[in-house]
Amino acid sequence: MALAEISARISAAERAAGRAEGSVTLIAVSKVQPLERVVAVLEAGHRIFGENYVQEAAGKWPDLRARFGAVEVHMIGPLQTNKAKVAVDLFDAIHTVDRPSLAEKLARLAQDRGRCPALFVQVNTGEEPQKAGVLPGDVDGFLASCIAMDLPIRGLMCIPPEGDDSTPHFATLAEMAARNGLTGLSMGMSGDFEAAIAAGATHVRVGSAIFGARNYG
Ligand SMILES: *Cc1c(COP(=O)(O)O)cnc(C)c1O
Repeated sequence: MALAEISARISAAERAAGRAEGSVTLIAVSKVQPLERVVAVLEAGHRIFGENYVQEAAGKWPDLRARFGAVEVHMIGPLQTNKAKVAVDLFDAIHTVDRPSLAEKLARLAQDRGRCPALFVQVNTGEEPQKAGVLPGDVDGFLASCIAMDLPIRGLMCIPPEGDDSTPHFATLAEMAARNGLTGLSMGMSGDFEAAIAAGATHVRVGSAIFGARNYG
């Protein structure tokens, strides 16, 4: 199945970049996919998935976890503050921390629970007005405030502008992470995950190349 081909391409990209085998985590993005396609990827042994919508994920993963055992589910879509509580209990990682109000809410929830999902700060590297993410000029200050709140920030995440060459965006994200002492880099999708691995991605988010096209009907 496509999963095996994508895994092989990830291994090849790791080798080509002189990186250790297995240093890149494949997040299979299952949003909006028919359940049977998700089950097929679980049956093939994959255990790390990405979702964009809290409600969709909450309707799917409790059952699938009961059926297949421990599965890591990563939130990669915009997160409304009023859904943060559900998100903290459902997801193993949140890649879309993008504003002070959300960071503060997550910090309060983490304190109440004594644990917190792994967090990535989303950066709007293309400075697109319609896109979520902290602006590049605000990243260092925002990260400092997150650290001051004891949030477990693992790294940075970006979605390069459509139509742009992704590579400069990946390089910018890697540079911002390095200067802030962060090792996690969530970058690269179906069309550009190999370029992301060359630029240092630790987490690639691949949907349609594994599951086929999404039908939003
Ligand atoms: C949907 C989505 C993906 C996966 O996109 P594909 O092009 O299908 O691989 C990756 N990251 C984010 C943030 C997404 O919303």
